[in-house]
Amino acid sequence: MNPPASSPRIHVLDPATINQIAAGEVVERPASVVKELVENAIDAGAGLITIDISADRDAITAIRVSDNGCGMSPEDARLAFVPHATSKIASIGDLHRIRTLGFRGEALATIAAVGKVTLITKPQGSGAVPGTRIRIEEGKINGTSGIGAPDGTSVLVEDLFYNTPVRKKFQKSKNTELAHIHDILEGICLSHPEIAFQFRYNGTDQIITDRTTRSLDTIARLFGSDILAELIPLDTALPLVTVRGYLSRPSLARKDRARLYVSVNRRFVTSPVINDAIKAGYGTLLAKDRFPVAFLDLTIDTMLVDINVHPTKKKIRLSHEKEIAEMTRKSVRDALLSHDLIPAAGAASVMPPLVAGIPATAVKSRDTRDAVTHPAGVYESTHAGTLLTDQRLRQTELSVASEPTYLVPSLLPEIEVIGEFSGIYILARTAADDLLLIDQHAAHERILYEQVTAQDRENRPSQELISPFVLHRTPKEAAVIRDLLPALAAEGFIIEDFGGDAFLVRAVPVVLGRLEDTTIIDEIISDLTSEEASVSVSSRERITRIVACRGAVKAGTVCTREQCQRIVDQLRRMKNPFTCPHGRPTMVRFTRKELDEMFKRI
Ligand code: ADP
Ligand code: MG
Repeated sequence: MNPPASSPRIHVLDPATINQIAAGEVVERPASVVKELVENAIDAGAGLITIDISADRDAITAIRVSDNGCGMSPEDARLAFVPHATSKIASIGDLHRIRTLGFRGEALATIAAVGKVTLITKPQGSGAVPGTRIRIEEGKINGTSGIGAPDGTSVLVEDLFYNTPVRKKFQKSKNTELAHIHDILEGICLSHPEIAFQFRYNGTDQIITDRTTRSLDTIARLFGSDILAELIPLDTALPLVTVRGYLSRPSLARKDRARLYVSVNRRFVTSPVINDAIKAGYGTLLAKDRFPVAFLDLTIDTMLVDINVHPTKKKIRLSHEKEIAEMTRKSVRDALLSHDLIPAAGAASVMPPLVAGIPATAVKSRDTRDAVTHPAGVYESTHAGTLLTDQRLRQTELSVASEPTYLVPSLLPEIEVIGEFSGIYILARTAADDLLLIDQHAAHERILYEQVTAQDRENRPSQELISPFVLHRTPKEAAVIRDLLPALAAEGFIIEDFGGDAFLVRAVPVVLGRLEDTTIIDEIISDLTSEEASVSVSSRERITRIVACRGAVKAGTVCTREQCQRIVDQLRRMKNPFTCPHGRPTMVRFTRKELDEMFKRI
């Protein structure tokens, strides 16, 4: 991306090219000025870029960006402020080969029209020849002079929007503007680890990154080194795209997409399609309303990337967008599932607060319902309970065994069950002397879920009930069920509209086993009608998840040690053994070392 460090010649683009460049305002706010100036410094091949922001009590008063890049000759320095003057493209055809961040030739002209600009520049290697200082006000050059200056360029912008009072008035609070500047700089620092950045606010250092070949160093600088243990590297070359960078383990999930840092050919962009693909790559590793942290650069042939969509160049249009998104999803998925994703017990502090703070009695929502606590006491298994659990486990064992999954190495280590706690958790150990706490229900739910989804999607197998039974519902619920009948049928529920608000249930998905007790169907239908439908999950997916949840061994069911071992053995064969279909973890690990530290043995 870096041009040779000699001063390039700037020229004004021809009218035909100008017409084809996405027109519009690039300088909407102080952060836009920072973005444009820093991008120019990167394009100039700088190794160090310094950003100085000054502010008084209410507003940002000055922005200065200095670099040690190629610099400009006196003639180029004057030309740089002419609208559509650029050294980066010559004609529209060049846009498909573009490797620089800029190409429109408009930023300096626009900035000079809305602020008072002082430019000092000196070409690299020009020796003792003095540099150039240009002062521009109201878009007009107000003075040029020779000046002693280091090689490189510095641009100072003062009194931003002084001559456009309306825009000035529309600036948000100083802190909002500073937050925007931070956002822009974070994205730029992360996509250019090879450049050192120094960001100062009123003379105080805020962000400093060193020149590095390891983007992890930059990530640690910006977000602290604790985050490194939570990241998984990714480097996958696929036909249309090479995806490189780091992904967070699911335990680092967030409520918003704000920590999805994506660059395309090292240009930091906002791409909803790629963001969705990353999220999709996590699949059921994350709850539906959680987003990962990701630092990814996608290398895509420049012929397939159109950056001339929006003047701020943050949006891109991709040819073969669907394929590229699918490849991104796949590389994310493969990277995640080739890593040990068992969260450490200590990672609970960065876990999404899914269960925390909800009183057990008020537990209603899907994610928390199974976490019901039980009154203190001894849990004993009943004979009937053990039989029912056996029946459920056999059901899943049969289907698991019918697939040649034994050929695929497990993502989990060998696990030996020690016992069970509270009817909810399985205690187990690994050969490495780690202690695992496994959520028995979440684990079995995962097993059922993968079984259902492994079956023919068009027509999941169903099994007739020994005696069909009638389900009565309120008119409102009946309407919901009627809407869902086709989806239910595809999932293996044969249900007939019986007239009034009644339905006849004839058959259920095979994974539910031979049902003698039909309350489970009642529960499934209640779940479907009581939950708000989520936009991000299809009806089919919802039904699958509810079937997995209701068909699985319930929390609070006391299992024998042998039954626990069977759950664990089945879980080891899953494609994603780490989370239940809702994204909750199936297990948490305590290493011996962590335990020894807790007990102050070391
Ligand atoms: P663009 O970046 O789209 O070409 P700008 O208005 O941002 O348009 O800049 C115009 C030209 O000025 C650039 O093409 C480049 O040749 C020159 N220029 C701007 N900033 C710098 C800088 N920091 N160092 C060297 N040259 C610069
Ligand atoms: Mg530019």
